[in-house]
Amino acid sequence: MQARACQRCPELAATRKTVVFGSGNADAELMFVGEAPGASEDEQGIPFVGRAGRLLEQLLEEISLERSGVWICNVLKCRPPGNRDPQPVEIENCQEYLLRQVELIEPTVICTLGNFSTKLLRGDPTGITRLHGQPEVLVLGSRAVRLYPIYHPAAALYTPRMLQTLREDFARIPELLAAGAPEQPPPQPPTPFPKAARRLAGSDESVEAQGDRPPEPAPPEPEAEAASTEQLGLF
Ligand code: URA
Repeated sequence: MQARACQRCPELAATRKTVVFGSGNADAELMFVGEAPGASEDEQGIPFVGRAGRLLEQLLEEISLERSGVWICNVLKCRPPGNRDPQPVEIENCQEYLLRQVELIEPTVICTLGNFSTKLLRGDPTGITRLHGQPEVLVLGSRAVRLYPIYHPAAALYTPRMLQTLREDFARIPELLAAGAPEQPPPQPPTPFPKAARRLAGSDESVEAQGDRPPEPAPPEPEAEAASTEQLGLF
């Protein structure tokens, strides 16, 4: 798979400086999936190097983890011009890279940061405000993981209450890691058809941005539920 020379999204390929594939420990137990590179990420070729990245690093430090020990990447590997929202076709074009990263890194826990990654990996349009802080077991490709949706740090930069919630959700990451990898599914022949982004693209609910947009107010949250198992046919 040649992400560095990817031309699947002609506009992104024409405007990007670098393909921001991901960074960190390729053997990590913990993986973070954001939205898309911004200007600094595009310059440096590294995800989450701006203010949101500094907050992510601070939150990691608060749970005694370092950026170098986790894997950090995004739904889109190329910067959308002007930091516009990723488009459904771009998400669909790029999802194979993300799913391959999941297969190669074999994380135990995937924290989806904000709406784009949460909706893509769950294959469902339910938004982050309803889902944050509630882990579930999902099968992505051939890998069962603990998916843990949390707010995007960029959204928390602007809203102290959201930052508090993000901090509380972060505090549960060590216990999810300690639970270890969920039971893995038996090996299955790969299917070539990625469903998650198609469902996202066809959904009535618009894809909500988290990036720099003022976040939606959070309704009362239900208690975290016991992990449930769901099979997604992503390949
Ligand atoms: N930087 C990233 O790499 N991804 C985001 O989603 C936001 C900032």
